[in-house]
Amino acid sequence: MNTLAVVVPAYNESEGLREFQRRIGLVFDGLDLQCSVLYVDDGSRDDTWQVMESLRAQDPRVATLKLSRNFGKELALTAGLDHVDADAVVVIDADLQDQPELIPEFVARWREGYDVVYGTRSNRAGETVLKKFTSAAFYRVMEKMSDLPVPRDTGDFRLMSRRVVDALKLVRERQRFMKGLFTWVGFRQTAIVYDRDSRFAGDSKYNYWKLWNFALEGITSFSSFPLRLATYVGFFAALVAFVFGVIVFFKALVYGDPVRGYPSLMVVVLFLGGAQLMALGMIGEYLGRTYVESKQRPLYFVDRHHAPGASAAKRD
Ligand code: UDP
Ligand code: MG
Repeated sequence: MNTLAVVVPAYNESEGLREFQRRIGLVFDGLDLQCSVLYVDDGSRDDTWQVMESLRAQDPRVATLKLSRNFGKELALTAGLDHVDADAVVVIDADLQDQPELIPEFVARWREGYDVVYGTRSNRAGETVLKKFTSAAFYRVMEKMSDLPVPRDTGDFRLMSRRVVDALKLVRERQRFMKGLFTWVGFRQTAIVYDRDSRFAGDSKYNYWKLWNFALEGITSFSSFPLRLATYVGFFAALVAFVFGVIVFFKALVYGDPVRGYPSLMVVVLFLGGAQLMALGMIGEYLGRTYVESKQRPLYFVDRHHAPGASAAKRD
C-alpha cells in the first residue's frame, strides 16, 4: 500500500492540536493509504510538546519531532520533510486554517499523476483587510520581480510526491522561502482552490514586521532585480545631471546668470545621498545573505524524534 505522511509545524499551538488530530484522524480513516502525521514542535514555550506526546500515546499513526529551539516555520517544515519517507507528503498548518478534509482531493490529483498539488485560497476568513491587501500586493510584486512563477495566494498547504520531497532535500540554503522553493523544484504542479478558515485557537505568529522581513527574504532569495535597480537609478540620475549641467553652463555663458542655487543644490545632494544609501542597503541585504550562507551552519537541531508506532512506554 502507498504511504502518506502529513507534516505539521507547530509553535505554541497546544490549544488546537487535539482538535487537529481528531479531524486528521477522521480523514486518515477514509483514505486507502497507510497514513501518518508528523508533528514538529518548533521550540514552543507552552505545553505543545506534551500534547503531541499524549496524542502519540493514543494513536500509533502519530510521530513527533522536537527542535532544539524556535527556528521559524520554514525550518520547522524543512525538518519535518527531512524526517518522513512516505510516497506522498502533505504540509499543513496546525491552526486548522487549512482544512485537513481537503487532503483526499489532493491525493486524488496526485493519483492522476501530478507531483505537486497546492491549495490556492479564494477567500481568507478572519483576516484583516490590511493583511489581505499586503499579502496580495506581495504576491504581485514577487511575480513581477522574479523569473519564478510563484503561484498567487498560495500558502504552504500542499501535497508533494516522493521525488519532489527528495529534490527539496537537496536544497540546503539557510534563508529559506519555502513557497519559492516548492515552485523552483518544478515537476507537474496543479492547484485546488479553497476557502481559508479562521484560526481554531490562538493568534497568528506573524506580525507585520515579521511579514515584511519574510517578504524581503522571498524577494532576495529569488530575484536580483533590486541590485539592478540601483544601476538604472544611477544611469537616470547621471543623464539628468548631464542635461542640467549643459543648461546651467549655457545660461551662465549666454545670459551671464549669477550663480544662485542653494535650494536646487540641497535637493539634489539630499536626493542623491538618499538614493546612494538605499542602494548600499540593498547591496547589504544580499551581502548579509551571502554571509549567512557562507557560514555553512546546519539548518536546525533535533532535540527529540519519535517515529510513528514507536512504543508509548518510551516516552520522555
Ligand atoms: N509556526 C512555526 N514556527 C514559527 C511560527 C509559526 O512552526 O516560528 C507554525 C504555526 O504553529 C502554524 C503555522 O506555522 O502551524 C502557520 O503560522 P500562523 O498561523 O501563525 O501563520 P498565518 O496563518 O497567520 O500566516
Ligand atoms: Mg495560520
